[in-house]
Amino acid sequence: NMKPVQVKLVLLGEAAVGKSSLVLRFVNNEFQENKEPTIGAAFLTQKCRLEDKSIKFEIWDTAGQERFHSLAPMYYRNAQAAVVVYDVTKASSLEKAKSWVKELQRQANPNIVIALTGNKVDLVQEEGSSESRGEGSDNEQEQEDEDEDDDEDNYRISRQVPTEEARAYADEAGLLFFETSAKNGKGVAEVFLEIAKKIPLE
Ligand code: GDP
Ligand code: MG
Repeated sequence: NMKPVQVKLVLLGEAAVGKSSLVLRFVNNEFQENKEPTIGAAFLTQKCRLEDKSIKFEIWDTAGQERFHSLAPMYYRNAQAAVVVYDVTKASSLEKAKSWVKELQRQANPNIVIALTGNKVDLVQEEGSSESRGEGSDNEQEQEDEDEDDDEDNYRISRQVPTEEARAYADEAGLLFFETSAKNGKGVAEVFLEIAKKIPLE
């Protein structure tokens, strides 16, 4: 059965956490350094093939600004999936993400699949500085938060949301959890793939 299942997906989160950039990475595999803010909402589609089904995401990318908050229910009502985004370098953006999750759990479709996504990990991970030192990609070893201050040559923005803190919240709230970089693409496809896997077949 090759007819794609249509899945309405909404992106929510504070302004400038990278919602539009995640969509641009997923749909066009592109990144723009100075992405202009979204006004109202933007609509894009992208197909996703799984082994046993084909999915067409209908993506509503909302504006994060408070003045657009009242429009959000139009986009999450009837949505089967939501990606709630925060910025790992900005603790207050996780608080905003949590308030979106609460609103979804109160007011959206009770079966909605919600993915919490900590974006901009390129700003805080060892990989970034390895690249700038010209090293190859041999070093795949995961580095954790404690080595953030071991490299004085590179200006680095520090992580404000520890991975395990966000993951613990996501587990408790029943959310999928990811960390991503729209800039280098890390983890982005996985967000949509894991959501696709959780959408029931019609
Ligand atoms: P939105 O308001 O949530 O849609 O955020 P945008 O996608 O417009 O991104 C806001 C700013 O953050 C832009 O300047 C982007 O280039 C930048 N940005 C988005 N994602 C990333 C990322 O993963 N890493 C870095 N370093 N910058 C990002
Ligand atoms: Mg945007």
